[in-house]
Amino acid sequence: MNEPMSAAETSKASFASMSDDDFRSHAQQWLAASVVGEYAELKGRGGPGDEEVGFDVRVAWELELGRAGWIGLGWPESHGGRGASVNQQIIWAEEYTRAQAPARVNHMGENLLGPTLIEYGTPAQCERFLPGILNGTERWCQGYSEPNAGSDLANVQTKAVLTPSSNASDAAAHAQWVLNGQKVWTSLAHVSHWCFIVARTEAGSSRHKGLSFLLVAMDQPGVETRIIRQITGGGEFNETFFTDAVTPADMIVGAPGEGWRVAMGLLGFERGISTLAQQVGFERELEGAIELARQHGKLDHPVIRQRLVKAHTGLQLMRWNALRSMGAGVPGPEASIGKLFWGTWHSDLGELIVDIMGASALIGDHLPYELSLEQKLFLFTRSDTIYGGSNEIQRNVLGERVLGLPKEPS
Ligand SMILES: Cc1cc2nc3c(=O)[nH]c(=O)nc-3n(C[C@H](O)[C@H](O)[C@H](O)COP(=O)(O)OP(=O)(O)OC[C@H]3O[C@@H](n4cnc5c(N)ncnc54)[C@H](O)[C@@H]3O)c2cc1C
Repeated sequence: MNEPMSAAETSKASFASMSDDDFRSHAQQWLAASVVGEYAELKGRGGPGDEEVGFDVRVAWELELGRAGWIGLGWPESHGGRGASVNQQIIWAEEYTRAQAPARVNHMGENLLGPTLIEYGTPAQCERFLPGILNGTERWCQGYSEPNAGSDLANVQTKAVLTPSSNASDAAAHAQWVLNGQKVWTSLAHVSHWCFIVARTEAGSSRHKGLSFLLVAMDQPGVETRIIRQITGGGEFNETFFTDAVTPADMIVGAPGEGWRVAMGLLGFERGISTLAQQVGFERELEGAIELARQHGKLDHPVIRQRLVKAHTGLQLMRWNALRSMGAGVPGPEASIGKLFWGTWHSDLGELIVDIMGASALIGDHLPYELSLEQKLFLFTRSDTIYGGSNEIQRNVLGERVLGLPKEPS
């Protein structure tokens, strides 16, 4: 006979057999009981352009989520997930947003690296890294972009060389990658424990060949992060320098030289289910824009009204498109449709909010740089059509890899 489950185990039981209604009330109850005290003080904060607010409290919140088993809901149960269906994941995102629970701090770990390790990693890598994401103790950042490799990611110049140990008897066991180079725009690198990096591991290789996907600890002498100040006033991203930084030989996902395939697989996850949670946030921002129009007496303004309706329609399209593209395994180049659409939609929403506010959008709350959440949203949304692959690049991907059009002249 099976032993009865302990309280901790019960709280992490599978959601696979739970009805959607039961799941919703379970989520509502937990959130109502948990978003209290210092967590409740962060309601409505930590969104786009506001990422640094209450960071320590949000780190503590991530641990709470981990303890209660709310991280990695959609991961397979065999990898510590809860087996939640797509519907349940949407319900969780809806209830989470409704409860105004604190903004999350480890999107890169939970939504990007975790699924990538499950798909491409070794059992040992999954065993080493998935628990730290699931319990909220290890945060990740993404080391792709470089000063001359953004849209043109295949131009990565950061090098990693596999170097045997100086101890000849166990050289193979203790071989390590030695990294040199610079990454840039590395979001939250200064508060991350680990970084997944695309580096060139085959000397003399070029473009997509000879790249590898490496996992590198941030807390070591060879890694330096320098915050880049953003127009929102915050400093969420960094320049990241690697100077003889090291990582053990087995911290490579996929075979040496196969990093491009893994790196692209990860980007597919970036454009997959995690966008649904993001859309619930968008919905809330749109509600805020409608309320703002009401306050400014502009709900009947024909142009503003039309733009609000267009935003509402766009949100529905985004949701249906995300649902349509799910369930097809690792997302393919079609996922660029979603990125192109939501990047533009969100950028437009930022402009709409400023237009609703009129001249008051130009005035700061306090000197020298205290911006309202609406102003931060507007400024942050300037980047939506750039990060995660710019609009122009998404159009290239769709043209060449989905529609089969000729390649652009090089
Ligand atoms: C808020 C934010 C957070 C980010 N976080 C991270 C992170 O955590 N990790 C990370 O690795 N990177 C991150 N990035 C970097 C992001 O991925 C890059 O900014 C993006 O890939 C564009 O690269 P780039 O900035 O070098 O611009 P460039 O590639 O220099 O592009 C400049 C302009 O030229 C256009 N362009 C370039 N090539 C073509 C072409 N072939 N055809 C047509 N037009 C073209 C682009 O669309 C763009 O408008 C972040 C960026 C932002 C804004």
